[in-house]
Amino acid sequence: MSYLIDAVYFLTAAIFIIGLKQMSSPVTAHRGIVWAGIAMVIASLATFGAPQISLEVTSINLQLMLVAIAAGSTVAYISAKRVAMTDMPQMIAMYNGMGGGAAAAIAAVELVKLSSGAESHGLTIQILAVLGAVIGAVSFSGSAVAFAKLQGIMKKTLRLPMHQIINIGLFIAVIVYGYLVATGTPSFEHVLIFFVLALVLGVMVTLPIGGADMPVVISLFNALTGLAVAFEGFVLNNAAMIIAGTVVGSSGTLLTQLMAKAMNRPISNVLFSSFGSDGGAAAEEEIEGSMKEIQANDAAIMMAYGQKVIIVPGYGMAVAQAQHKLKEMGDLLEARGVEVKYAIHPVAGRMPGHMNVLLAEAGVDYDNILDLEEINPEFPTADVALVIGANDVVNPVARSNPDSPIYGMPILDADKAQNVIVIKRGKGAGFSGIENHLFYADNTRMLYGDGQKAVAELIAGIKALS
Ligand code: NDP
Repeated sequence: MSYLIDAVYFLTAAIFIIGLKQMSSPVTAHRGIVWAGIAMVIASLATFGAPQISLEVTSINLQLMLVAIAAGSTVAYISAKRVAMTDMPQMIAMYNGMGGGAAAAIAAVELVKLSSGAESHGLTIQILAVLGAVIGAVSFSGSAVAFAKLQGIMKKTLRLPMHQIINIGLFIAVIVYGYLVATGTPSFEHVLIFFVLALVLGVMVTLPIGGADMPVVISLFNALTGLAVAFEGFVLNNAAMIIAGTVVGSSGTLLTQLMAKAMNRPISNVLFSSFGSDGGAAAEEEIEGSMKEIQANDAAIMMAYGQKVIIVPGYGMAVAQAQHKLKEMGDLLEARGVEVKYAIHPVAGRMPGHMNVLLAEAGVDYDNILDLEEINPEFPTADVALVIGANDVVNPVARSNPDSPIYGMPILDADKAQNVIVIKRGKGAGFSGIENHLFYADNTRMLYGDGQKAVAELIAGIKALS
């Protein structure tokens, strides 16, 4: 039986990895998610037959497990169906945290068993349980704070006096208690204090992080959750947990590194600098010029008689759900012989791939959706850069002002187009709270209004020309 279960785990691991590979392209991403989901269901079912689990399954805890699975699946299904695309990062943060919490809970059960006199599985296993417990608990409470911040329940940043010193103290305390729990026979009180300290550490580390750094933090917690699950896989001697946890841990680490690179910030800077806590106000420099408004009809003429238009979508496009109208407008322009391209910044919107997903949903041709490195050289040859609901990702202070908190972050060079049209509702700042110099530039015109409504007016304007 044990060999059969291992064979099933091996098969599901292969499907996980194929699914992950497919997620790297928008064309195959949906299929990849379905494959990985099927693998997860098979692995979960197979676990009921695993000897180390089936020996412990009594009718009472089997019932409890089935009730937990039914309740969890129902809540997850309903919430995933209902969640708005713009709220997806919070949801990811929450599910992430649940994974870390589950890994910590497994460790808690094992350690509490030890404290009540159960036989130890050996020092190595106890150390792995403790490592998984720390990482899982930090990831759980840290993700809960990230969720509260993104949901607007909590202030974006909160820094106590001597915050980093307190964190160092907490970290040392966690190590000391972790050592006590991992070596020897821990008392229940030690286990309890150890978990409380680890949970508080997760909260304290995440509290001061704010501004534009939250996506990197969520991705980091995702990687940590994977690692915690893999450690607990060793504790339970469960190959599926070890493989799935390692895959999540390594891919999450890569994603975290890629995002930090896209923002040109080392991870240490993300975790310890409280970027965005003052909204960048301290580094604001005097802005020359004024914002100049344009009417939709004039903007439509500018694009319709141009040769090349580059569309730069951002978070506001997602809020306005303007992607379908944008596609319609792009088709109209192309029918007039205008070359239309879409420029995607790696952290545009509120989650990795946010813009790609929305544009793909609207049916925009993948070949016309270009990444930052590919599209930036093309801006100087564009007649119009149409910025819709994007702000931070096109802010030229990232290039020009060394004192700006976003200095060094690669941006889309929309300001280098011949003309820039910016669609936004008013003078609202972007996620990082920093003023955008692009909006005041001589070649920029502001088209005020909700993204979807503004594009509908542009469509009407273009149609009126034919
Ligand atoms: P920003 O958040 O910088 O700016 C969005 C702009 O959209 C605002 O200035 C707002 O201006 C405008 N807007 C909002 N609603 C509408 C609407 N209905 N119609 C038209 N415009 C609207 O977005 P970017 O995409 O440029 O940058 C993303 C930021 O979010 C970065 O700082 C990034 O680091 C951060 N982030 C990214 C995540 C990711 O993984 N991608 C996750 C979390 C944060 P106004 O109010 O005037 O309309």
